[in-house]
Order: sequence, then C-alpha cells, then structure tokens
Amino acid sequence: MIVIYDELYTEHLKGIDHPESPDRVAGVASYLEKSGLFGGREPARDATDAELAFVHPAAYLERVRRDVAALGARPGYLSTGDTVLDHSSLAVARRAAGGAIVAMERAVETNDAVFALVRPPGHHAEPARGMGFCIFGNAALAAHAFVQQNGGRALIVDFDYHHGNGTQAMARDGVSFVSTHAYPAYPGTGGPSEQSIADDWAVVNVPLPPHSYGTEAFVATWQRALPEVARRVRPDLIVVSAGYDYASGDPVGDLGADGPQSAAALAALIREIGAEYANGRVVYCLEGGYDVATLARSVAATLRSHDAAPASERADPGSIPAPQRSILERVEATCP
Ligand SMILES: [Zn+2]
Repeated sequence: MIVIYDELYTEHLKGIDHPESPDRVAGVASYLEKSGLFGGREPARDATDAELAFVHPAAYLERVRRDVAALGARPGYLSTGDTVLDHSSLAVARRAAGGAIVAMERAVETNDAVFALVRPPGHHAEPARGMGFCIFGNAALAAHAFVQQNGGRALIVDFDYHHGNGTQAMARDGVSFVSTHAYPAYPGTGGPSEQSIADDWAVVNVPLPPHSYGTEAFVATWQRALPEVARRVRPDLIVVSAGYDYASGDPVGDLGADGPQSAAALAALIREIGAEYANGRVVYCLEGGYDVATLARSVAATLRSHDAAPASERADPGSIPAPQRSILERVEATCP
C-alpha cells in the first residue's frame, strides 16, 4: 500500500512531554520499514489556503497563524482552547492536511487504498475551533477535496476511541460520517441521539461503553454498522479516521479491544465495502494511538490485511451488547 509520510511530521511538539508525540509517526515509520511495508512511501505536500477553506473559514486559519507567530521558543495553547502548539505547528498541520489530500488523489488515481501517516491528527478540529490534539480536519478535508474535484460522495469511517466532533461538524454536501467511540468520554459529543440522515449525507454515531468493550463486540459492531451505512450513502470514496487508541493498554483511550487483531478485521471489512461501492478507493488517515509499539503493530496489521484481501471473518453478532444493538437497529430502520 502507498504510505504518505513526511519527515516534517516529527517537528510538531518535538522535545515537549505530550502523548501526541513525534515518536508516534517516527515509531510507525521505522516499524513499517523493518517489516518491509514502507516500499510504497511517497511524499506529502502542503495544503493550500484554498484547500483548507473547504472546511475552515479564513478567519480560523488567520487565528492559527497569529497564535503560532506569537509563540517564542516555548510552547503555548491555541486560543480556541486545549490544543498545544509550538513554533512549527502551523507548518506541520498544513502538511498533515496536504498529506491527507495527496492520499485521496493517489487513491483515486490507483483505485486502491493509501495510508496517510500524518500528525497532528484532525478529527476533533471543528471548522473554527481547534480542539484536543487537532488543528485542521485532515480526514474531512480529504473527503471534501474529493467531492470538489470529482463530484460524488465520500464516507468517513471513524474507529478512533474518541468521537470525531470536528468531522461530524463538517459532514454535509456529499460527505457522510459514521463513528464508534467511547461515551461518555472526551469530547463529550456523539451520544445516541446525534444521528442525521439528509438526502446526500448522513451522520451515524454508535457510542460504546468507555472500557472493556472487547475485540469481538468492537468488530461485530462495525460489521453490522458499516454495510448498512454504506448501503444508504453509496460512497464513491471511503476515508478512514484510523485512530488506534481503542487498543487495550492505550494510555489515553483503551476500549479493551486488541489493537492489531481489530485493525486486521476492520481493514478486511473496509476493503470489502470499498470494493463494493468505491472502486477500491480508500484513504486511511492516522488519528489517535498513543502506545507507540501497539500503534506500529496495528498500522502494520491494517496495511497487511487490506493488501492481502482475506475474506473478513464474521465476529459473533451476539457479542454486541443490547444498548448498541438497539442503536444499530434504529440505524438499519432509517436505511432503506
Ligand atoms: Zn482518539
């Protein structure tokens, strides 16, 4: 699989004690290299102001620029809240957004999957408000850039531990969003009542208990949710907000699901849905995952499983707990 990666991604928050550290992508890159999975590496580019404007108002870009310019050698906070910045953050975030867009373009050219190994992550960034560890909405940008360039519809599949409140706020005009996430947990959104079905886009949230959900139930939930949502949306591109902080032992998340095993099962499912609707075009965009060794093994499992195309093994649908089952039944009822 083509992997979009740029050394610049290791600059943001370098030397700062923070869970969203440069070691995350550096560790994944070196593990992929050792595992023979980095042969398809390609460079990123910067997202232009016009591209960022697909999802962020110009005033927000100006705010990020001003906040970063006001920093000296020491880190500080983005003035929209809890996002830590240093002098490199705007340049790195712009290239992360560009990396997601390049991945989308390569997926369209090759009718295949591409992995954007980027940071900072993006799914908490709302149109005018950076949040969490996120500055620009990488996955939503790739999806909207696709719709702008090609027409059609894009579906964002978010399996990160946390709810992608930012991506949800950018779902419209052919861009749909389906998410599993811990609830209640940061950022507090994505509850069972947050569902929207419009003519050309949808938002589907399947909140999960914050811990001990388990591999079987996690995989079974997606095996039930994703085909239904895809049937409703009929996406021409799938963008995956690939956040691996669902993995057991993750210091920030931890749904109690095995990292690599879940990643492999989800990639097999996503590959099937991508082949059925989107001509094989899938963009994986890195979101969370804060235990570097588990993150590296999980990303490798995604690449291997998606490329090897095994038939996806069915997880036991009976493992889905009753509250999640009732949400899925409601989703199914709205999907003709
Ligand atoms: Zn997360």
